[in-house]
Amino acid sequence: MIGFFPEIYEDELLYSLLCRYYQRTGYTKYIFAVDDLFMRRTVHPVIEWVNEYSPDAMDHITKRTDFETVVRNHTMFPAYTRFLPKERRNAALHSLLVCDGNYYNLVVNQKVKHKRFLRYCPICAAEDRERYGETYWHREHQIVHLDICPKHRCRLVDSTVPIRSKTTPGLFPAETEVPFGEEPVLCINERLVDFGRYVLEIFREPVDMESDVPIGSFLQSMLDETYVSGSGAKVYSTRLYEDYSDFFREICEPMNFESFRKIYNNYSLDHYQIYQLAYFQGLTAKELARRPITLVNTAMEELYRDIGEVYGIDYKTVYQIGETVISKYRNLGKVSRKSGPKQRAWAELDEKYLPRVREIVNRIYFSDGNPGRVYVTRVEREIGAPAKQFQKLPKCTKYIRDHMETTNEYRARRVAWAVWLFQKEGRYLSRNTLNHFLNFRKNDLMACSPYIKDSKVRDVVMALLAE
Ligand SMILES: [Zn+2]
Repeated sequence: MIGFFPEIYEDELLYSLLCRYYQRTGYTKYIFAVDDLFMRRTVHPVIEWVNEYSPDAMDHITKRTDFETVVRNHTMFPAYTRFLPKERRNAALHSLLVCDGNYYNLVVNQKVKHKRFLRYCPICAAEDRERYGETYWHREHQIVHLDICPKHRCRLVDSTVPIRSKTTPGLFPAETEVPFGEEPVLCINERLVDFGRYVLEIFREPVDMESDVPIGSFLQSMLDETYVSGSGAKVYSTRLYEDYSDFFREICEPMNFESFRKIYNNYSLDHYQIYQLAYFQGLTAKELARRPITLVNTAMEELYRDIGEVYGIDYKTVYQIGETVISKYRNLGKVSRKSGPKQRAWAELDEKYLPRVREIVNRIYFSDGNPGRVYVTRVEREIGAPAKQFQKLPKCTKYIRDHMETTNEYRARRVAWAVWLFQKEGRYLSRNTLNHFLNFRKNDLMACSPYIKDSKVRDVVMALLAE
């Protein structure tokens, strides 16, 4: 019989609440708490999800809210189910609600190289103790690959409690597992912190149960026009991958081309890789979390396929005809709509954004420090404009495009900056130190050398390459 049951804290794992219950009872044996809380004595309390609870425990867990809210706000549900196909997503939620354990086969198994442990942020723990007199296991610290606490910018620390242990079942409260007075290690990579905040923002969005658009198709439909053909049916994936890799190299190791293609082709549901691509594309957390129920583009492809079957023409031909017609039609439309009220509103917005666009582009491009690479999405994000809006703003877009570079042009500018820096600081300059400093692969320096504009720098680099 459960006498006193603690209240659940914000963002606390349900498992953590049960740990705190066990701690408060003062039971000498773990099994006594198991008898109170679970249906079976042989239970392995699951850390990220739910178990079968005793009716008594279930009453306490749902005293203030329904169980679905508990599942959504106090398990790792949003981290592993958001991009599942609609049917599977709903089946997973249902399985969690009835606690039948089948959810395990439905949710995405995030790939990790190391054994996972419950994690904590030393500063959050200290704050909890200050505020509540105890700390607890936070959900947001357990998101796979999110290794920093975006609130405090410090590295999350592994506890000794394994997340998926088959050997020792137990209820290990954070208050006894998290040491006092631990020194936090701060993360200095500004862009990594920003990406972390983005991942967290998505995690905090409610999981939508309605959208039936495969996540890869959705990402594809939101691509910048530089990467797709007129009708949106063809993606220039080599260019896209190159830009993604360059964009991400400053944040973390980019995924390989194979994984990248799998996401866009709907063969992979790796949530962390999806976050990366959405971030690179400049989608807001809300856009990613609240996807449309169906996609116009997919409907178009289906139409091409249907027409092809009816008239006995292969898909590619129908697609090409369709694309030509659409692009012609779109251009006609542009002329006739030019003076409408909508067009004027876009023109005003174009003027309004332009000074800030110039400022942002110049800061990224002409920065004294490590030169940055200009992308439409990067500028869009800094301005806070919804993805794709810039397609309607010709002046802003032109200014950005004038400062966009190919990979080699951008690398060449970084080389020039690095050589200048090495010489200024009197550092030892060799091919290896330069490659290492710029995080270049073996042939990068050679490939970009023709694009170095400053002839003195180019001579220095040619000499290094000749060594
Ligand atoms: Zn923290």
